[in-house]
Amino acid sequence: MVRLRFAPSPTGYLHVGGLRTALFCWFYVRQHAGKFIFRLEDTDQKRLVKGSENDLVRMLEWAGIDLDEGPGIGGDYVPYRQSERLGIYKSHVRKLLDEDHAYPCFCSPQRLDNLREEQRTKGEIPRYDGYCRNLNKEESVLRVASGEAHVVRMKIPEIPETLVLNDLIRGSVSIETSQTEDQVIIKSDGFPTYHLAVVVDDHLMQITHVVRGEEWLPSFPKHLLLYRYFGWDPPEFAHLPLILNPDRSKLSKRQGDVAVEDFRDQGYLPEALVNFISLLGWSPAEDRELFSLSELIKEFSFERVNKSGAVFDRDKLNWMNQQYIQDLDQEDLLQRLLPFIAQTPYAEQDAALLKKAVNILQSRLVTLKEIGKRLALFFEENPVATDPDVLSLLRQETSKQVLAEFIRQVETLESLTEENLGSLMKNVQNATNIKGKNLWLPLRYAITLEVQGPELKLIVDLFGREKCLRLARRALEL
Ligand code: GLU
Repeated sequence: MVRLRFAPSPTGYLHVGGLRTALFCWFYVRQHAGKFIFRLEDTDQKRLVKGSENDLVRMLEWAGIDLDEGPGIGGDYVPYRQSERLGIYKSHVRKLLDEDHAYPCFCSPQRLDNLREEQRTKGEIPRYDGYCRNLNKEESVLRVASGEAHVVRMKIPEIPETLVLNDLIRGSVSIETSQTEDQVIIKSDGFPTYHLAVVVDDHLMQITHVVRGEEWLPSFPKHLLLYRYFGWDPPEFAHLPLILNPDRSKLSKRQGDVAVEDFRDQGYLPEALVNFISLLGWSPAEDRELFSLSELIKEFSFERVNKSGAVFDRDKLNWMNQQYIQDLDQEDLLQRLLPFIAQTPYAEQDAALLKKAVNILQSRLVTLKEIGKRLALFFEENPVATDPDVLSLLRQETSKQVLAEFIRQVETLESLTEENLGSLMKNVQNATNIKGKNLWLPLRYAITLEVQGPELKLIVDLFGREKCLRLARRALEL
């Protein structure tokens, strides 16, 4: 049975790259009726951010990803936490020490700093020089027993060799062991480093496929050596390509949003974000872009994940979100909009009018959050035009002629509806000799106050005679 894990560090939020890793694992697991496991990699006590675990689990849930296994399954989900497994790592390190694959290192931070500095000035790559590797074993044991501060390092074999990884995405990747150093596996605070904990946990949790970002690729020799020292078979590996900014630099918070919750708060639908993120580095066999979760589960394969970086194209995400919003059923859309409407001054407004407004706006919304500024048109007595294109068009002489004639025509009518708007505008055209865009745009801008407003005849119908007259008169005064 396939067993995959998502193993984030608790850094405060779920990064979109993390969501992609979780999705690819989850697609694969669901495709193969396997198990999906969440493991919190919280061994770096300096980088812990409170509340991270909860946030990570909630964001996965929001994206539609469910988890199968944790120590406390049933009731509230409790993930595996490395900080609660220290005894397990300790006993495994004991074995490495006993079998001479690891050694205690007493070098002070000061000595290590000086060493690095020295190596740098000589133009060498900074690395540990093996000073404690050859200490007398009995002496080391005594120093540890006396409570002297130390770390534990794993031994890289003395005779250099080439280690080969068969990556599911990159094929065969080789690295010389000489490029790596005697890695710290237990820190002076007694916590394991990532390298030890990840290998021990992946083995004990019977993980079949390790899926992670390509920034971990250079670490595989250390991991393969640890598997060898413990006498375990390594799992399969898949290293995912980087996610890039449009300028091809690594996606970073400085250039925009990277936290999944930011996208949620801006009104992206989970199904749109999931669809978009799934296409970052993976391409389906079929030439189309919109995929539901169940289609993604069916279509996904590691063979179709690219080696090269994937650009995070916000315009494409916006397009996708708009498609998904358009396809929602009206009640569903309204429900999803309610939390956003609650943040506007229009939360307590007439529910029937709200519903009509939402129906009219559905085809234009790019994000749910946009509803805030779009609703002003429906609920403000005197909405204000701010768009410079709208203002400049409405100030043109021909626009004023159209609107003046529109007002005259509407005044002769008892009501203004979707049905009689066409013939009325025909009359305006005949009277002013203005047609096409020059005829319709002034009216659209006067009534909706936006260049990209919703469909005019629906708005006119909803607003009716009085409000349309008022808006047209106001536009004449601009
Ligand atoms: N804790 C690591 C991270 O957050 C996990 C890497 C892995 O999946 O092995 O990047």
